[in-house]
Amino acid sequence: MPELPEVEVTRLALAPEVEGGIVRSLVVREPRLRWPVPAGLAQRISGHRVVRLERRGKYLLWRFEHGTLISHLGMSGSWRVHPGAPPAPARHDHVDLVVEMPQGVRVLRLTDPRRFGALLWAGGGERGLRRSALLARLGMEPFDARFDGAYLHERLRGRRSAIKQVLLAGDIVVGVGNIYASESLFAAGIDPRTAAGRLSRARCERLVLAVRAVLGRAIDVGGTSLRDFTGADGRDGYFMAGAQVYERNGLGCLRCGAGTIRRIVQSARATYFCPRCQRR
Ligand SMILES: [Zn+2]
Repeated sequence: MPELPEVEVTRLALAPEVEGGIVRSLVVREPRLRWPVPAGLAQRISGHRVVRLERRGKYLLWRFEHGTLISHLGMSGSWRVHPGAPPAPARHDHVDLVVEMPQGVRVLRLTDPRRFGALLWAGGGERGLRRSALLARLGMEPFDARFDGAYLHERLRGRRSAIKQVLLAGDIVVGVGNIYASESLFAAGIDPRTAAGRLSRARCERLVLAVRAVLGRAIDVGGTSLRDFTGADGRDGYFMAGAQVYERNGLGCLRCGAGTIRRIVQSARATYFCPRCQRR
């Protein structure tokens, strides 16, 4: 499933292919995604300029002067860029966005076998977007300067759930998916079962730095692996070559050398940690 780093890598790769370009057409072959692609979307954006490609959480935001095209990759979605004429669409190639750039026509093709992705429209500028129900309840961006130890500490106050689950919930900070939650807590030396509200301010500081480092590394790895970029393809384990604990249960801890990585299940999701160097 594409996580925040995959979506950010997609954004970094697509931005130079679409920013400043004029939409020539939008071809929707299959509107039945997680929610139906709105009828009339093609008319809404055809002839309009893509001002910027942004990301909020796992949403890609195609910003136009008159609104925003919101796309989400769901479980299995990916965008692929074809310079010039793309190959004949395959079964799961549901949408083509055709953009005219100074360097030529670009066809951006959305492929989504499981169809849990989304393609929606929010009219108006910044305010219209903020009102969008999809985005309104998202937590802070992990690389936002306001996401710091003080903020995290304040937001965790009184929360009795385990810190791993609170991170995953996404209402405090977005983008810390299951793999990245285990990795961040390991990097910060925090036992994933710790009641969130019991974390000290200092440990919150460490956790913030760990979240940024883990996500930042994943984005860097994704970026460097896309030298010949034609599109993110959402392969599993894409960024996990450098995992310290994820799926390493039974193996020795890479930090302390003496502990053995354990696997536990929290809210039906696997968590990996070193009982020796991660403390409550
Ligand atoms: Zn250890």
